Amino acid sequence: MGSLAVMAGSPKALAELLSEAEHAIALTGAGMSTESGIPDFRSADGVWQKVDPMEVASLQTFITEPQRFWQFHRPRIDMLSGVDPNSAHVAIAELQRRGLLRSLITQNIDRLHSKAGSTDVIEVHGSLSRGECLQCKAMTTLGELVAKADGADDGVPRCDDCGFQLKSGVVMFGESLPPAEITAAYEAAERADVILVVGSSLQVAPVSELPAMVHQGGGRLAILTEGDTPYDEVADVRLRGKAGVQLSETVAALDAV
Ligand code: NAD
Repeated sequence: MGSLAVMAGSPKALAELLSEAEHAIALTGAGMSTESGIPDFRSADGVWQKVDPMEVASLQTFITEPQRFWQFHRPRIDMLSGVDPNSAHVAIAELQRRGLLRSLITQNIDRLHSKAGSTDVIEVHGSLSRGECLQCKAMTTLGELVAKADGADDGVPRCDDCGFQLKSGVVMFGESLPPAEITAAYEAAERADVILVVGSSLQVAPVSELPAMVHQGGGRLAILTEGDTPYDEVADVRLRGKAGVQLSETVAALDAV
């Protein structure tokens, strides 16, 4: 580990950190999937530049203006469903397969980690994989949800049981996070001696607090994003650049560690 100080920005340093950890976990965000063609929220060409997702993808808008909500959400379902995992997802799955990542927590709702072969993904912001009714708790498949939206004059899918507008399994701004997933994420962070953050600006609480938990518990931080995060000063390994390149090089470096 003595060489970390001079290599703290290299894939080799990350490989070393992961191979020496006893309980490393990863937290991923939207930057993980930009190389698959899904824009993140806060980069220069991110979704935020065109529309404020905090407003249009919010519980408030869903309740009061369901048609506006679904005008934003319906094309996103097609966009998010039609993409493939990239080399960053593949590398994370490989790190899991080698036993070097004990838990994988994602803020992403695109299911690309699972498509790349990752298992037991903790999806703290929900997932596109289903539809649900906030009023009577009825559930639908994603296919049923899309068919209902496309079959409705106003583009708003409605519940067969109670008639209320349906939502997808994606957590909206202003909505509570799924309790089982957030509990699993906190438990993983409590046990972790290393947390690897990939592609998150760490702006969205409470998930953004996980690195602080690990740091305060004496664990170490590795951060891989193109942009800045509030934890850059305390990171033990700080990688910048494309997640796909950096993580592929990390996997390659592991064999040499
Ligand atoms: P964010 O947009 O706030 O931050 C993304 C970070 O990733 C930035 O620091 C950016 O510089 C970096 N980045 C972008 N492309 C990168 C790349 N190829 N390699 C390395 N770094 C890269 O994202 P966030 O922190 O995840 O917060 C956005 C919220 O919106 C999340 O809650 C998430 O659920 C949701 N979201 C999800 C998706 C998705 O599922 N793919 C897409 C957009 C937004």
